Amino acid sequence: MSKKDLAVSEDFYSVQGEGPTMGAPAVFLRLKGCNLTCGGVNTVQTKSLDSGATWRCDTIETWLQGESVSNAAILSDWSSQGYLEAFKKGAHLVVTGGEPMLQQSQLVSFFEDLEIALEGLPYIEIETNGTFKPKEELLDFVAQFNVSPKLANSGMPKSKRYAGSILKWFSEYDVAFFKFVVSTDDDVATVISEYVEPFDLDSMRVFLMPAASDQEMLFKKSQWLVDVCKATGFRYSSRLQVALWDRCVGK
Ligand code: SF4
Repeated sequence: MSKKDLAVSEDFYSVQGEGPTMGAPAVFLRLKGCNLTCGGVNTVQTKSLDSGATWRCDTIETWLQGESVSNAAILSDWSSQGYLEAFKKGAHLVVTGGEPMLQQSQLVSFFEDLEIALEGLPYIEIETNGTFKPKEELLDFVAQFNVSPKLANSGMPKSKRYAGSILKWFSEYDVAFFKFVVSTDDDVATVISEYVEPFDLDSMRVFLMPAASDQEMLFKKSQWLVDVCKATGFRYSSRLQVALWDRCVGK
């Protein structure tokens, strides 16, 4: 293990389930650790909601686990799993978590080695909660940031979940898209008052997704949310992990 090793929780090959590239074949690399605990300040210990949260991070139990893995070991495994071949055919690499931006230096090192192994780069997406500014050296590798700021319904205090200067930076970066999970008209109003208006976000870069942990709820909430999108101009996104497999994973 070296200081450059990524702390990895899991990786798998699937399709991007949300946002502007929904449906693209994608290798997911889930990194260990997050600076937030959506679901409430005590949710890691209690495994239930607190602090006023109305939903809980569906990957906490996954991103709390993980181990440091060398770049060479990841690439060797990906070669034998066929992931490197998939990249050559156009699969995306989606780095998620937890909060991947906690490991930016390690990611730069990994992307350098991936570029050598592939003799090029795949289309790289990074999912982030929008509380860390990307380092300059990371930007050369990343084709798209999927920024998913957390609302008060996450149970996180605003001082932890809302970083105005960093959201402003992302708002001015053309290949950053904003994703929000919403379940009520109040949530949509919050998206507008806390994010869209202060940062003058173009509605075509804002994706609203239904809060849903199963297919039945996804169907019902989608009927409502499509009407919201028609009224506001925001873009609707499904959540394929729920729609296709009835499970709620992802950032
Ligand atoms: S939803 Fe995202 S930001 Fe919130 S605890 Fe889970 S990984 Fe962290």
